[in-house]
Amino acid sequence: MEEAQAKRLRQPIVVVLGHVDHGKTTLLDKIRGTAVVRKEPGEMTQEVGASFVPSSVIEKLSEKLKKMLQVKLEIPGLLFIDTPGHEYFSNLRKRGGSIADIAILVVDINEGFQQQTFESIDILKGRKVPFLVAANKIDRIPGWKPFENEPFLETIGKQKKDVQNRLDNQVYDIVTQIAQAGLNADRFDRIKDFTKNVAIIPVSAKTGEGIPDLLALLAGLTQRFMKERLTFAEGPAKGVILEVKEDLGLGHTIDVILYDGILRKNDQIVLGGVNGIITTKIRGIFVPKPLQDMKLSKYDFTSIDEVYAAAGVKISAPGLEDALAGSPIYAVNSESNLKEIENKIEEELKQVRFYNSVEGIVVKADSLGTLEAIVTALNKENIPVRVADIGNISKRDLMEASIVAQQKKEYGIIAAFRVKTQTGLDVGNIKIIYDDIIYQLIEDIKKYIDDIKNSEKRKTLETLILPGKFKILPGYVFRRSDPVIVGVEIQGGIVKSKSPLIKQDGKRVGEVLQIQDNKKSVEKASVGMEVAVSIKGNLMIGRQIDEGDVLYTDVPKDDLEVLTEKYKDIITDDMKKVIKEIIEIKRKEDPLYGINVNL
Ligand code: GDP
Repeated sequence: MEEAQAKRLRQPIVVVLGHVDHGKTTLLDKIRGTAVVRKEPGEMTQEVGASFVPSSVIEKLSEKLKKMLQVKLEIPGLLFIDTPGHEYFSNLRKRGGSIADIAILVVDINEGFQQQTFESIDILKGRKVPFLVAANKIDRIPGWKPFENEPFLETIGKQKKDVQNRLDNQVYDIVTQIAQAGLNADRFDRIKDFTKNVAIIPVSAKTGEGIPDLLALLAGLTQRFMKERLTFAEGPAKGVILEVKEDLGLGHTIDVILYDGILRKNDQIVLGGVNGIITTKIRGIFVPKPLQDMKLSKYDFTSIDEVYAAAGVKISAPGLEDALAGSPIYAVNSESNLKEIENKIEEELKQVRFYNSVEGIVVKADSLGTLEAIVTALNKENIPVRVADIGNISKRDLMEASIVAQQKKEYGIIAAFRVKTQTGLDVGNIKIIYDDIIYQLIEDIKKYIDDIKNSEKRKTLETLILPGKFKILPGYVFRRSDPVIVGVEIQGGIVKSKSPLIKQDGKRVGEVLQIQDNKKSVEKASVGMEVAVSIKGNLMIGRQIDEGDVLYTDVPKDDLEVLTEKYKDIITDDMKKVIKEIIEIKRKEDPLYGINVNL
């Protein structure tokens, strides 16, 4: 028996992703339902967090599709992960990839790609998981005549020509949208090379149409192109923790998807915990009791002695209360090197959970997979991360964020994904951003950072004294002193109220009090404008200043440096000229004035 199993293929692990309301849950329900109806007694295995569809069912369903599924199925069936969506998928992590072998991307054929559809492709690409597109809800295409549970290739032939055309137009829209994501795609029955094209399978999760084609393709393609990956490894089990729970009568348990090897009762297991590596011994392996027994609730489990990957099981063992969702789990037997496995997991956890000293944000999440997905998304947005960790927000997190806030206010943030703040903590003025959807969280973080940056920019720009130059127009003296009021022409740059002024010889001559443009008070005047300015200081026309004089703003050294470093975009050519003139004037007093300025 051992010999025969050495080369057998395991069941591919299938995940479902897609935009909200496009029919992910309904599709999974339909597939499960179909499998239960079509199976022979004893054919189905019970799984935790996943559903198994045996190959015999797939073969029966796709009898009419002989042409498409010529090969006999060698894989035992398909293992569908029960919970669809990004967040759950994130926890199916494996270093550099995913334990999912293939994905179904569900797209409502009548709505086409939406935001989460594009995001799904992004994360599938990121984890290198190939996918098919289920173009769902074909029964909603106007004029569609449903033929329950028929293969698509049968039912499409029975539709009117205009309905067929309508469907094809919608499929082409999806082809175009997939092209935007950089991939080729086509309706599955028109594809010759499946390694170069994403297959689109029109389906209805409601009527079951297209489900046979979808299952046949999933099975056929994985078996054909993933043989090596699916070859069962005879050895201690490897898996990933999907959820940590407390179960009635079982205490703390972990729900695990095994993707390779064999797991036996009494095996030693190694996994990641909140406070470090957990090495413990299995007390029990559980699967749900068979559904046939209608008296049982879904919370009734039965204990088994061993299980072969791929499978979803519940494990009870001492010390699991600190287990980390998304962590790898390895079984250890006499042949394996315990220390080596512990180091391997520890190393992997360190990649995802870290503390460093960069000026960046603090990220707290509920699981390893979501944490990793958030940090990856932040990296893509060039947002630095100082702390990435699991669990509720602690005093230390607040401290780290406040250290950063002192240097870089915009990064003084704690991003909280499905975690809370520990009770009794004084949050002070640290910004905590909570969200339960990864992409929403990232959007909120981006917006906060932008808002702070913009307001800081505005604030400092507002307080800067800008380079400006004007000429007192002869014949336009409205008041000779206390304050002087004159008509001027701005010859370059920007003159703002409260700007101190100098003459061409560098002598200080008061400060702009007010500027009026057409009798209306304005904050500033720029090149070409003719305005009235009042100038305060002990001045009198004909003494310190006179008609025809040219005055400059007295720009402090620091202001000039900040302006030319941070706000280059507001420096116009005329302002540039004024800056050079001011530097020349100021250098006579201060040889270092404007030395760092780069125009
Ligand atoms: P999810 O958010 O992607 O899991 O979407 P659901 O499976 O909850 O489906 C959203 C809505 O679309 C529900 O009201 C479903 O009944 C409906 N729906 C899903 N698939 C189909 C389909 O193939 N045809 C029709 N007519 N409705 C569907």
